[in-house]
Amino acid sequence: MKVLVVNCGSSSIKYQLLAMTDESVLAKGLVERIGMEGSILTHQPTGKDKVPLKADIPDHSKGIEMVLAALVHPEHGVLKSMKEISAIGHRVVHGGEEFADSVLITPEVMNALTRCIEMAPLHNPPNILGINACAKLMPGVPQVGVFDTAFHQTMPKYAFLYGLPYEAYEKYGLRRYGFHGTSHKYVSQRVAEEMGEHMTNLRIITCHLGNGASITAVKYGRSLDTSMGFTPLEGLVMGTRSGEIDPAIIPFLMKKEGMSPDQIDNYLNKQSGVLGISGVSSDFRDIEDASAQGNERAQLALDIFAYKVRKYIGSYAAAMGGVDAIVFTAGLGENSPPMRDKVCNGLEFLGTRIDPEKNNVRGKTKEISVDGARVKIYVIPTNEELVIARDTKMICSALV
Ligand code: ADP
Repeated sequence: MKVLVVNCGSSSIKYQLLAMTDESVLAKGLVERIGMEGSILTHQPTGKDKVPLKADIPDHSKGIEMVLAALVHPEHGVLKSMKEISAIGHRVVHGGEEFADSVLITPEVMNALTRCIEMAPLHNPPNILGINACAKLMPGVPQVGVFDTAFHQTMPKYAFLYGLPYEAYEKYGLRRYGFHGTSHKYVSQRVAEEMGEHMTNLRIITCHLGNGASITAVKYGRSLDTSMGFTPLEGLVMGTRSGEIDPAIIPFLMKKEGMSPDQIDNYLNKQSGVLGISGVSSDFRDIEDASAQGNERAQLALDIFAYKVRKYIGSYAAAMGGVDAIVFTAGLGENSPPMRDKVCNGLEFLGTRIDPEKNNVRGKTKEISVDGARVKIYVIPTNEELVIARDTKMICSALV
C-alpha cells in the first residue's frame, strides 16, 4: 500500500510518498510560493538529486496536479501510474472539539472542517483546498484527516479553560486546544519504547522546539496540558511569535500605534519572538552565530527562550506530580546541543542533568542525561509524516 502524505500551508504544499510495507519514503518534496511570482516545486525521489520544477502555480489545485505529475514522471517519478496511490493523508491544523482522532474524510467531516475555519482562519482553508484538489484529481481514492489538535483533546477542563466568562467558551469555543499533537504523540510513544516502558507508566515532558514551539505534559499516555492555546500563538517565545504576553498589551499597542486587529495579529505572529527580541533573525542558527560574536540582543533572545522552556518543564513536572522523561524534538530541539544544555542547566533539583558528551548529537535518537539520572533526557527526531501515513493506512485498511 502506498500513501501520499500532504501538508498544505497558505502558500506551500509539503508532501511525502510512503510505501507502507516497510514504511520507506519513496519521494518527497515541497511546492512553494503558490499564487506568487517565482512559484516552484522541488521534488526529490529518495536516493536521487532534488529536481527543481519552476512553473506558474496559481493555486493549490495546480500545485497538487504538479506533485502527481512529478510522482509519475518517466525520469524523476517513482510510480508507473497514479493508481498505485491507495490513500492520501492530510495534516489538518485545527479539528476543534469535533475530532479527538484521525478520520476518513466524508462530506460531514468537510462540513465540520469548514466550521473550524473561524478558529484557524490562516491554517484550515489551505487544508480544505488541498483535500478538495486531491478529491478532484484522484476521485475515489480515500482521504484521511490527521489533526494537530487531536492528541490534546484529553486535556481536562481545568487545563484547557481560560479565565474568561464561561459563555465565551460556550458561544465561541474560546479555550485552549493545543497544536503539534502529532509530534508530541509520536515522540512520547518513541521515548517509552526507548525506555522499554509502557506509556501508561510514564510522565513525559515533550519539547517540540522548531520555528513554532510547544511543550506538552504527557501523563500516563495522555496529553494533560500543552503550551499552545486557542491558536498556535500562546506559550513559548518562538521564531517570530510572541508567545504568552499580558493581554492588556494588545489594546495598549492598538491605541498607541493605531494598529488594526490584522496589524496587531501580524505584529504578534510575524514580527515578535526571537526575531523581534534579537533584531537578527528568526532562525536560531543565525542567532547562535550572532551571539557567539558578541551580539547582546541575540544572547538575550537565547536566554529568554531557554528560560521559558525551563519554566514550562518545571511547571509541567508540578502539574503531573513528577516527571520520568524529558524529550527534545523538532529543528532546534534535535539539532542544538547548546540550547538543550542551556534549557536543562538548573533542572538538577528535578533529579537530572545533561551529560555534555552524550549531548553532542544532532538529529538522532539518543539518551543525553548523565548515567543514573532519575529523570531521563532524550533527543528523539519527530516524524509527523509517518504518523499521518500510519493513521491513513489503518483507517483505509478497515474500508476493504
Ligand atoms: P518548523 O517546522 O516549525 O518550520 P523546524 O522544526 O523545521 O520548524 O525547525 C526550524 C528551526 O530549527 C530553524 O528556524 C532553526 O532555528 C532551528 N535549527 C535547525 N537546525 C539547527 C541547528 N543545527 N542549530 C540550531 N538551530 C537549528
